Amino acid sequence: MNSCMRCGRCCTQFAVCVTPFDIVRIAKAANLNPLDSVQAIPEPPARERNEPAVLIDGQMSLIVLAWKSERVCTFYSPAGCTIYPHRPLLCRTYPFVRGLQDVRHRACPEMWAPSRKAKRQYLADLRKYNREVKKYTAIAKEWNSKGGGSLAEFVQFILTTNYY
Ligand code: SF4
Ligand code: SF4
Repeated sequence: MNSCMRCGRCCTQFAVCVTPFDIVRIAKAANLNPLDSVQAIPEPPARERNEPAVLIDGQMSLIVLAWKSERVCTFYSPAGCTIYPHRPLLCRTYPFVRGLQDVRHRACPEMWAPSRKAKRQYLADLRKYNREVKKYTAIAKEWNSKGGGSLAEFVQFILTTNYY
């Protein structure tokens, strides 16, 4: 199998981290209040990726896509992702983590063998993802150094930052 079967497992079993860049893109493209698409969860002790933790209400937290029920992404529908063209980079690059040899199969049932064109796209998205996580790390450092705040204040902070 060389492409996503859209089985939805990765949309219904995980916390999907988002960067400020994803949040802004989704809000603009889907005409959403950015606060409606995200939530903060306590930073877990271990995880696959490198999104920074941010201080929300006094707790180091990860900013993830909002859930409509436990671990079910708010944008998930049985017919598919309701924001598919604007989905976060983590969704675009799943199940690859650092490169196309580095596949995590915790949820994905597929044996991936992307076409040459799909490989180029995955690698471009992974590069973009890594660039944006690096900038997000700087944003998080600045936010945390100010003592953090509520999720609403964090969203306001990322909307007014100069990192774009
Ligand atoms: S944004 Fe779309 S692709 Fe990403 S987890 Fe949610 S439903 Fe799945
Ligand atoms: S688990 Fe794998 S096959 Fe299923 S939707 Fe996610 S990426 Fe696609």
